[in-house]
Amino acid sequence: MPAPAVNLLQLTNTNAMPKTTHFGFEIVNEGEKTRRVGRVFEAVATRYDLMNDLMSGGLHRLWKRFAVELSGVLPGQQVLDVAGGTADLSRLFAKRVGSNGKVVLSDINAAMLVVGRDRLFDAGYAALAVQCDAEKLPFPANHFDCASVAFGLRNMTHKEQALTEMARVLRPGGRLLVLEFSHVWKPLQPLYNAYSFKVLPLIGKIVAQDAASYRYLAESIRMHPDQETLKHMIENAGCVSVEYFNLSAGIVALHRGYKP
Ligand code: SAM
Repeated sequence: MPAPAVNLLQLTNTNAMPKTTHFGFEIVNEGEKTRRVGRVFEAVATRYDLMNDLMSGGLHRLWKRFAVELSGVLPGQQVLDVAGGTADLSRLFAKRVGSNGKVVLSDINAAMLVVGRDRLFDAGYAALAVQCDAEKLPFPANHFDCASVAFGLRNMTHKEQALTEMARVLRPGGRLLVLEFSHVWKPLQPLYNAYSFKVLPLIGKIVAQDAASYRYLAESIRMHPDQETLKHMIENAGCVSVEYFNLSAGIVALHRGYKP
């Protein structure tokens, strides 16, 4: 007996179609983006810190210090570093919270997390390293005093979901911090574009033998929400008093919000 027409309709329902998103300038299925981002960070993990210094002229260290200064984190507090990678923020936080506090380094990518965990141990900090997806954080609600994500949100497939998860695990009064590439001051854009699309992939090719990952970096920055849009996204995730600070003419912005 032929199947009733209604079954055919259900099969072709657009809800069942894979959802698409951006991987740099390309439009790809969501699962494909997650796989490709994973491959990028597996490929760059061992050269990641060197490349950061080369690409930013060391500026990323100052941006990260600024973020930790503005976190208001105190000795004895608990911090979650989401997409923490090679643990730059985690190390700064570990120093601030001291031996009575706790820092959890988390990342979806084992290659990045292993480098980060080893760097923390080498620096004398016994922080916890947890491999997990920022979109499904395996931590209880109302727990951390601060949840941060530095240069990670851009790579996530469902950014709103990740922000909502970060807000969920914060205790009331806790701070949510997003340090991320942003939209640069307009007069600087031509110079910045030339640097990002010509110089960055070239440095990637010479130092890490990987131009493609650094082309993705430049493209993903362009596709990331601007300062005001991200501010609204953080508010929608449940934070209040959200403000942002442009760093280096908006090449990077630090957003900070509070869980009410
Ligand atoms: N936070 C570090 C820093 O500032 O140097 C690392 C940033 S690195 C550019 C981006 C990190 O985001 C990578 O380690 C990557 O594995 C991680 N990442 C990407 N998608 C993620 C996800 N859905 N959940 C958790 N981490 C993710």
